[in-house]
Amino acid sequence: MRSTITSCSLLWAAVATVVLSQEDRSRLPPVKALALQKAISKKALSTKAHELEDIAYSTPDRNRVMSSEGHNLTVDWITGYLDQLRDYYTYEVQPFIALYSESNGSLEVAGEVIESVVFEYSPSAEVEEEIIAVDNLGCEASDYPDAVADSIALISRGECEFGLKSALAGAAGALAAIIYNNEQGAITGGTLGEPPRPEGDYVGTVGIAKADGLSILSVLEGGGSVTGTVVTESDIRNVTTFNVIAETIAGDHSNVLALGAHSDSVFAGPGINDDGSGTIGILEAAIQLSNYSTNNAVRFCWWSGEEFGLLGSTHYVETLNDTAGELDKIKLYLNFDMIASPNYIFATFDGDGSKYNLTGPPGSAEVETFYRKWFKSRGYNITATAFDGRSDYQAFADNGIPCGGLFTGADETKTRLLYEKFGGEQGEICDPNYHTALDNYDNLNFDAFVPMEKALVASVAEYATSFGSLPEAKKARARGVEDGKIMRRALADESFVMKGHTKLWRA
Ligand SMILES: [Zn+2]
Repeated sequence: MRSTITSCSLLWAAVATVVLSQEDRSRLPPVKALALQKAISKKALSTKAHELEDIAYSTPDRNRVMSSEGHNLTVDWITGYLDQLRDYYTYEVQPFIALYSESNGSLEVAGEVIESVVFEYSPSAEVEEEIIAVDNLGCEASDYPDAVADSIALISRGECEFGLKSALAGAAGALAAIIYNNEQGAITGGTLGEPPRPEGDYVGTVGIAKADGLSILSVLEGGGSVTGTVVTESDIRNVTTFNVIAETIAGDHSNVLALGAHSDSVFAGPGINDDGSGTIGILEAAIQLSNYSTNNAVRFCWWSGEEFGLLGSTHYVETLNDTAGELDKIKLYLNFDMIASPNYIFATFDGDGSKYNLTGPPGSAEVETFYRKWFKSRGYNITATAFDGRSDYQAFADNGIPCGGLFTGADETKTRLLYEKFGGEQGEICDPNYHTALDNYDNLNFDAFVPMEKALVASVAEYATSFGSLPEAKKARARGVEDGKIMRRALADESFVMKGHTKLWRA
C-alpha cells in the first residue's frame, strides 16, 4: 500500500503528458546516446532538486528518512512523474516491512560533553565507566583486551563495519562503545545494520570526531585513566516503507537494464546530494528515455531504507530470488548514489579490481571501461571507487549480476592526486555536508551533476540498445554468483587487503 497524498502529483508533476499507443511506441526513434545527452538540462535537474528539498522542508523533521512523511512524499513525488509516463512505463510501489531505529544520546568524557552521534540500531544504555582502548581497528575479537569487560570500548573507525565493532565490543563484555572517525571531522551518523548479528549483541554505540578520539587515546597511552558517560536512547520498531520500480512497457523483458538510486535520506537533513541527486538522475533519465524506443527493457528502481543498511534493494532482490529466472533477466545493474558532491571527484566502480583489489561480477569491468571511455573522450578525468558494500549494488553483486555506476564522493578526503585531477579543495572531504543538515539544494555542485547525468544517460542508451559488450550473460552469471561470494568472503577475510581503502559501510 502506498501513502495517499494525491495532491502531490498535481503539485510536483510538471512534465508534459505523453500519451502513446503501442503503435506510437514502436514508431519512436531508437535511443541514441548523443540525443539523450542533448536532452539533459541543468534546469530540469535543478527544478527537481528544489522540489525534493521543498518536500523535506514541508515536514516537521525537514528530512526524508525511511517511513517518515518526507519519505512517503518523496515516493509520491516519484510516482507523480511516472503517472505522466504511463503509456511508456508500468510501475509498482513495493511495500515492505523494515526495522526502523531512531536514537538520541550524549557522551561525556572526564565530565565534559563531547559532540557525538548515536548509531542506528544502537540499544538504549546509560553507562558511566572507564574508557578502554581497543587494539588495531577492532575488527577481530582478539583486538579487545580483557579490561574492556564492564567498561566502555574506544575503537577507531575503519576496515570493517560499525556493527561488527559494536557486536565484538558486546561479546567482550563492554557495556558501551565509542567509535572515533579515521578521517578528519565528526562521524555524522551511521547504522550498525539490522540486528541480530552472529558475533554478539550490540552495545550502546556513539561516534565522535577523530580529534576527540585521539585526545582520549593520548591520555590512555600516557598511562592515565579516563571516565566516560555514554547515554543512548533508541526507538527501534517495524515500519512499512516503499520501493518504487518502473519498467519500460516495450523492450525485451528477458534482457533488462536496471538502474537504482535510494529515495531515503538520513535524519540530519533533506539529503539532496545523498541521494536526491541519484533519485533525480534516474528519474530525469526515465523521462528523457520515453521519447525513444529501446531493444532491451529498462527498469528504474528507487530504493527505500538504504541509510539503515541497504534494506530496500536487499528486500527487492530477495523477492526476485523467489521466482525462478527473474534475477537472470537482469543483465546489468547500475547504481547512482551521490552524483553532485560539492568537492567532487568523477568516479566509477572499480569493476576490474585494478585499483582496490576487489572485482565486480563478470561484466563489471566492461562497464567500468564504458564510463572511463566516456569521460576521457570528453576531456574529463575519471577515477575508480571500490565495491565496498556501501550502497545498493551489493545485493545484485551477491547474485552475480554485473554492476557499475557513478559517484562523486562522500566522506573520502580529496588527496593531492585527486585534487590534481578534479580541482576543488585539497585535504577536504568530497562532500563536507555529507549526512548533515547542509546536504541541501544550495550545496549541490552542478558542474558535477550535469556531466554525471550525461554519462548516466549515455550508459542507458548503450545498454538499452545492447548488452553485446558484456560477457555472454548466462555463463557470466554462473561465474558471477561465485564472484559475488568471493567479494563477500574477501571483505570478511582478515588476510584480504583492500588497496588504498580503509573505510567500509554506509556511514
Ligand atoms: Zn546514499
